[in-house]
Amino acid sequence: MPETKEYELLQRPVGTVKGVTARRAALLSRCGVATLWDALTFFPYRYEDYSKILRPDQVKEGGEALVYGKIVSVKAEKTFKKHLKLVKVLIENSGSTALGVWFNQPWIADKFEVGKKVLFHGVCHGAFSGCLQMTNPDVIYLDDDFHPDYYEGKKLPVYHTTEGLTQGVLRNVMGSLVSEALPSFREYLPADELKRSALCDISEAVKLLHDPNKTGDEGIAQARRRLIVDEFFALQVGNVLTRKVMQKENYEAHHLVPGKLIVDFLNILPFKLTKDQLSVLSEIKNDMLAPRPMHRLLQGDVGSGKTVVAATAMLMAVESGYNAAIMAPTEILARQHYETLKKWCDLIGVDVLLSYGGMKAKEKKELLKRFEEEKNFILVGTHSLLHVKESIPNLGLVVIDEQHKFGVAQRAMLREAESVPDTLIMTATPIPRSLAMTLYGHLDISVIKAPPAVRIPVKTYVVTPERLPAVWNFIRKEAEVGRQAYIVYPQIDESDKREAKAAAEMFEVLSNKVFPDLRLGIIHGRLEKEEKEETMRKFREGEIKVLVCTTVIEVGVDVPNASVMVIEDAQRFGLAQLHQLRGRIGRGNLQSYCVLVDNTPLEKGGDEFSQPLLTGMTENRRLEVMAKTNDGFEIAEADMELRGPGEFFGEKQSGHPTLYLANPNRDKKELALAKELAEKMIEAYEAGALSPEIKEAFLTRVALRYGAEFTVPGF
Ligand code: ADP
Ligand code: MG
Repeated sequence: MPETKEYELLQRPVGTVKGVTARRAALLSRCGVATLWDALTFFPYRYEDYSKILRPDQVKEGGEALVYGKIVSVKAEKTFKKHLKLVKVLIENSGSTALGVWFNQPWIADKFEVGKKVLFHGVCHGAFSGCLQMTNPDVIYLDDDFHPDYYEGKKLPVYHTTEGLTQGVLRNVMGSLVSEALPSFREYLPADELKRSALCDISEAVKLLHDPNKTGDEGIAQARRRLIVDEFFALQVGNVLTRKVMQKENYEAHHLVPGKLIVDFLNILPFKLTKDQLSVLSEIKNDMLAPRPMHRLLQGDVGSGKTVVAATAMLMAVESGYNAAIMAPTEILARQHYETLKKWCDLIGVDVLLSYGGMKAKEKKELLKRFEEEKNFILVGTHSLLHVKESIPNLGLVVIDEQHKFGVAQRAMLREAESVPDTLIMTATPIPRSLAMTLYGHLDISVIKAPPAVRIPVKTYVVTPERLPAVWNFIRKEAEVGRQAYIVYPQIDESDKREAKAAAEMFEVLSNKVFPDLRLGIIHGRLEKEEKEETMRKFREGEIKVLVCTTVIEVGVDVPNASVMVIEDAQRFGLAQLHQLRGRIGRGNLQSYCVLVDNTPLEKGGDEFSQPLLTGMTENRRLEVMAKTNDGFEIAEADMELRGPGEFFGEKQSGHPTLYLANPNRDKKELALAKELAEKMIEAYEAGALSPEIKEAFLTRVALRYGAEFTVPGF
């Protein structure tokens, strides 16, 4: 795809904009805003509405209000409870007063100055000790010459922010970033299409969402609709293009109807395949027998038994005279697959080879030699094998395991392929069907709905931090009967040292004070690979009883003897992620227990830094979903319902969300429209029917979604 100037401009780091210091750029990056394009699409999650600025005496109890006054006094207080610190700020207006109270945010006291004007925004409690009280209200610091009339009817954006970045500063910085970026993001749909679909101009829509000023709800809804269509459109262009390429793919594999090898394999398995596994296999078989390449996504919860399905498919390739490869995201998982597959395949005389990162020259040579000799083998490696796929001889099937970004990886593969093998992509992240079809519309989708019946459902409890001593006791009891436990701390961002520190500090406390009698281990992202693997080995072998860790254990680790998982600050995780984590336990034939520690500040139902609450749900409601069900698809639907699809993969931490405003469950009409527009635009592009400006803007939009290296033959 040709690079456009606008694409280049929008890819600029935010730090290149005047007034954005390195420190601010770092804070912005923690919010997921690294480039100008990120800033443009980092939409406010709500607006502060200044239509009703009230005096304290005009406020109704229990209601949400914006209260205006002058600061009379600022007090920081300690309380009887050791951990509880209060800040109290009294404001006054025309003789009536309101009291703002903050819990455990002592630093906030410094931000107030007696005599200054402020607005408090939040829920008002009744007259407590004679004056209106607001707990943890949002604050707007006003200029001395502030007059309510100026603000009446105005809407100010509220963005998700991070520690160290106040809403006011963020709002200002976002203002500069958006004005810097906007000229480079131009309308890519022809005027007649906009008119026909009743869509407004895209750059106006972006501007309006960031700064609605006095625009009414209807106007905001219009702008949102334009951007919902835009989010779907970008995805649909990828789907349509990918499908077009797939139709022209060069495919040579001729798989045979499964015969003796598969029968032998199913016989040596210590269990019978479930109904779901069998039906998925029959879909895979049909794909493999068809004279075109398979592009199938297999969704199945952790422990649902995807590996054996992959193994059967790979053996079908082997039986047909081909080699097959399976690729895992990490070396630990690749080795785990290698062990499992080797155990099975040794019994039926099929070779399993392992390719790994630190292979010595000699081992590499050995592997290449076997590439030459072996006609039928299964190769196990990490995702990095994708890049050397061409050097694997006679490849009939590729299985990509635990791939979250499969859309992207798979599209990247399309580029270079001369002759493509069948591809099976497996994911343990259950995705609501409507979302999966939107994101991966170019793939066929299979689902293993129910896990093998041998699994005992994990019991899940949501507790407040006060209950932790009881939880530690419980872990000790489980350890006494030989079980093991995980204690997980959130990892907000990999480059962030704080979580590693939280885990490390807790590790000290837990090993010295809480469990001096037990052997503990620690794993987090900042340890050396060898160290991590060593600890993991000891945990697997039962030497380490309690593993303190960050989310690095999230993917695929298998220790059936672990029966307890405690997740600290559970309110910070997405449900999908909690589910993924919980999948690490309950893998053996033991009753397992998951304890979610909810640290949501009680007073507000979520602090400024916790995950967004688009629907105003309390964290507790979300966490209760986990206690209620073990079904990943049910949890996924609930997560999407509660938070929308934007945060679904925790993409906020790892980069840019794919869908932020759009929700395929809700916005069905917009989805259909986007698809139609994508098809039309591609057709017009290929026919050379787009004006130079529109063509440039269209290419820019596609590049912004897929990167400039996304090349499609003919594009
Ligand atoms: P995942 O889908 O997470 O990759 P695995 O393939 O690792 O799941 O399977 C989890 C466990 O369930 C493994 O120990 C596997 O051997 C076992 N298993 C798979 N299929 C069945 C089945 N049909 N009946 C009983 N156990 C099974
Ligand atoms: Mg697996």
